[in-house]
Formats: sequence, C-alpha cells, structure tokens
Amino acid sequence: MAIVGDRAVVCGASMAGLLTARVLSDFYGSVTLVERDALPAAIAQRRGVPQGRHLHQLLRPGATVLEEFFPGVFDELLTAGANVIDDPSLGYVGVGHHVLTQNGPFANPGELLAYSVSRPLLEALVRQRVRALPNVTITQECDVVEPVLGPSNRVTAVRVADRRDGHERELPADLVVDATGRSAPPRRSFAPTVTTSRANSATRST
Ligand SMILES: Cc1cc2nc3c(=O)[nH]c(=O)nc-3n(C[C@H](O)[C@H](O)[C@H](O)COP(=O)(O)OP(=O)(O)OC[C@H]3O[C@@H](n4cnc5c(N)ncnc54)[C@H](O)[C@@H]3O)c2cc1C
Repeated sequence: MAIVGDRAVVCGASMAGLLTARVLSDFYGSVTLVERDALPAAIAQRRGVPQGRHLHQLLRPGATVLEEFFPGVFDELLTAGANVIDDPSLGYVGVGHHVLTQNGPFANPGELLAYSVSRPLLEALVRQRVRALPNVTITQECDVVEPVLGPSNRVTAVRVADRRDGHERELPADLVVDATGRSAPPRRSFAPTVTTSRANSATRST
C-alpha cells in the first residue's frame, strides 16, 4: 500500500477509533490513538462506553469487515463465548406493531447471520489486534482538548492533556480523525473553520 502521510492521530479508542486506526495503519507511517479512559487489560466494562453493559449484536456486513481487517477474530470471539445466530426462524423483524416477515421467508436468510457478544469482549479482542500493529500506539488516560490550526486553518496537530497530571502537549498530525462518539464533552469543533474574510465576502455576495 502507498504511504500517504507520516502521522495520523485518531481521537477516541472505541470501536470507530480502533477500526479507523486499523485502516490508517496501511497508509500512514504512524498512527496514534488518544483515549481518555484507562483501557482495561482484561475484558471489562469501562466508563467511556456506558452502553457497554447492554448486549451487542454484530450483523453480517459489520462482521465481514471485521474479519477482513482482523482475520480469525471471529474464531477467537466464539472461543471466548460469543454466540452466532444463523437460524432466521429464531427471530423476526418488526417496526412498531408490523412484523415485516409475517407472510414468508426472509429473501436472504444468510444476511441475517448475527454474532451476539458482549461489548467489552468485542472491543477487547479488536483492541488486542490493533495493539499488535507495529505502527499504532494507544495513548490512554489522555483527553483530546482541541484541534490545533496551522496556516489556512488547516488542522496540523491535536492538543491533548494527560489525565494523571494535567500536562498538555501537542501531537502533530497530517490527518486527525475525531472518533470520540456522541458522549464527548463539548470542545472546539473539528468542523472546517470559515475565515473572517471569506465569511465577510460571502455575506457581501448575498
Ligand atoms: C443501549 C445500546 C445498545 C446498542 N447495541 C448495539 C448493537 O447491538 N450493535 C451495534 O452495532 N451497535 C449497538 N449500539 C451502538 C454502538 O454502541 C455505538 O454505535 C458505538 O459504540 C459507537 O462507537 P464509537 O466508537 O463511534 O463511539 P463510542 O463507543 O461512544 O466511543 C467514543 C470513545 O471516545 C472516547 N472519548 C470521548 N471523548 C474523548 C476525549 N475528549 N478525549 C479522548 N477520548 C475521548 C470515549 O472514552 C470512548 O472510548 C448500541 C448502543 C446503545 C446505546
């Protein structure tokens, strides 16, 4: 694969962050994941993913992608206790009071294959695989504070703060991905910033 940049930073080391790091590891010299939680060494619930106590199911398209990125991961999940639900007659799809499959079989029953797995188990196995990637580093107990803008308002780094001592530093990056999820506290936006002069000219032209 062609390397397109030296450094990528991914904010948040949950499912989206871990998978993003896996993809970017093919294209960047180094990838740093920044996570505010202390990541458990064992398979355990953690504060940053409150929904982790709920049962999670992984449907076929997601499972296919995971297996492609981490070959053999589903054998590991099944060995660790996950269940596979591959018999469509065991379930139905309903919206409100309307059962969608009332009058016939599913068109593509194979597509309904699902893995029933605890969220901490799934995340722990994926995290283990990502940790094993030679060019990926996970920085934990570290808050993403804000993006750092360079010339032309381009994001050139991320300011992070160590949770243990409050020490702040900047992590330079050619690419920054925000995967901090919906529960992330408000902070300076990663959204593209419009400069004052462009905003003014846009105002004048309308
Ligand atoms: C009750 C419930 C049941 C669900 N069941 C399923 C299911 O069966 N199947 C399914 O596929 N999905 C399910 N989901 C959805 C799934 O859990 C979410 O889509 C998924 O967790 C989103 O992943 P994410 O990585 O985008 O964000 P999150 O999992 O929210 O992770 C965000 C990460 O960013 C970190 N973070 C936040 N702010 C900062 C910061 N400032 N600095 C550093 N790190 C930070 C957090 O600690 C966390 O690790 C369910 C959701 C809920 C609520």
